[in-house]
Amino acid sequence: MHIFVAGGAGYIGSCCCEYLLDQGHQVSVFDALLTGYRQAVDPRAEFIEGNLSDYAAIEAAIRKTRPDGLIHFAAFIEVGESMLDPLKYFRNNVANALNLCQAAVENQVPKLVFSSTAAVYGMPESIPVSETEPTVPINPYGEAKLMFERILAWQHRLKGLPYCALRYFNAAGASRSYGEAHRPESHLIPLVMEAAEGKRECISIFGEDYNTPDGTCIRDYIHVLDLAQAHLLALQSDFCGSLNLGSGLGHSVKEVVEMVRQVSGRDFAVRSQPRRPGDPARLIADSSAAKRILGWKPAYESLEQIVQSAWDWRCKNPKGYSH
Ligand code: UDP
Repeated sequence: MHIFVAGGAGYIGSCCCEYLLDQGHQVSVFDALLTGYRQAVDPRAEFIEGNLSDYAAIEAAIRKTRPDGLIHFAAFIEVGESMLDPLKYFRNNVANALNLCQAAVENQVPKLVFSSTAAVYGMPESIPVSETEPTVPINPYGEAKLMFERILAWQHRLKGLPYCALRYFNAAGASRSYGEAHRPESHLIPLVMEAAEGKRECISIFGEDYNTPDGTCIRDYIHVLDLAQAHLLALQSDFCGSLNLGSGLGHSVKEVVEMVRQVSGRDFAVRSQPRRPGDPARLIADSSAAKRILGWKPAYESLEQIVQSAWDWRCKNPKGYSH
């Protein structure tokens, strides 16, 4: 297949492109490089620099590429920032993404796979979380992702655009050549690794008084290459709708910290901080629908494998990306 990847220079996008290319597919990346890196674009992929706010640019790129499938990763991802500047999130993650949607319809793209999030559930009541859980986002980031899912559902119904929205839990780990290097960094695993590398004084634990066995929040960490596999399967499948992607395993913040100590062999300081507003105590995915419908088989089963791959990538790329 020839796959068009919007946001292919970001963390999950770059790892996914490497996976698709390794599987023998052709890839065209469209990215504005606002938060992504040119260096994170696989040299085997075609690169088109452009912004989703520019309908002519995205339409021309899709028309020229004539893709067999489209994956949309291009979005802002900072939950905290979305609370401070909600319109930035609605403008980019919804309004600008309409251009992508329209260009996909105009050019009869056979399938659009959308990078969604567990944040659409807000504070879920039932654990593990299945797709039938009510969607009640508690921040503009999750709301914008849910809005775009609903827009896709209408485009499917009224314009015949096939789509699949994949709701990731906590993406983690690295591919062979690409890894997680956000600017600024706010995610737990890379932050703990920065502490292990001596690049930060300590790691803060946000809340040790949750109703969990060790008092810290539990999350479902899923390897980025397992996510990549699901994107390819979703492109190849006739299924239209939303699916959860997680490992089904829960690990506490303290377990992640310990695993980074073990894998890196380095010690570092840990500081207890108050809870971060809006953090649910527990988020674990029920991904049985993705397994059943797509035939998805996650390959990285343990937190150790996930943390090891992230650490290996950082050891090979101690400075991350420079451009
Ligand atoms: N977390 C933490 N210290 C940090 C960053 C994150 O204790 O410096 C916690 C956070 O409160 C959450 C978990 O680690 O419970 C995962 O956070 P992350 O931001 O990586 O992902 P999220 O679950 O918010 O999508």
